Amino acid sequence: MQNEKITVGVLALQGAFIEHEQMIKSLGANTVELRQKSDLDQKIDAVILPGGESTVQGKLLNELDMMEPLKAMIKAGKPVLATCAGLILLAEHIEEDDHLYFGTLPVTVKRNAYGRQLGSFSQNACIAGVTGGEYLMRFIRAPYIAGSTEQVEVLARDAKNHIVGVRYENQLAFAFHPELTGDTRIHESFLNMV
Ligand code: GLN
Repeated sequence: MQNEKITVGVLALQGAFIEHEQMIKSLGANTVELRQKSDLDQKIDAVILPGGESTVQGKLLNELDMMEPLKAMIKAGKPVLATCAGLILLAEHIEEDDHLYFGTLPVTVKRNAYGRQLGSFSQNACIAGVTGGEYLMRFIRAPYIAGSTEQVEVLARDAKNHIVGVRYENQLAFAFHPELTGDTRIHESFLNMV
């Protein structure tokens, strides 16, 4: 689909959603903010789950009765791009944590995997499916993926070989923040999935 015909619903309850909206708009596609259940009734071709605080986002999703309808959209095949806290919301398992949010992505994530004290850092890596050379991955109190099933395609690893980017069917998820560096390649590849 041409970008100008695509509308991306960006979950806008908490965290870094504005930066995703700006990046999607800079690529010529449209965005709508998902703030309440009725926002899900609009024409939405794809969904972005932004970074922030997964516990807060999860609580709000439940309180606003948005968890189940969004989960149904993801399960039905709507393309979803999840970053950082968004990855935690998608994960089927969270290490040393009983929370389960969408649980549609067959991975185990480790929250705050680089240590609580380590606020943010950046690393370069090649990302599968992203052409044009290395990509600067910006991590902020990030998780990593501690385990995944064979069906999950690994797209990116950190310098210590931990998995930090995956694709599984319609779900694209990264532990870092592709909306914060000005490099639009990940969002472009996401729009190509629509
Ligand atoms: N540490 C956050 C969490 O566990 C994720 C951080 C982020 O999204 N930048 O939810």
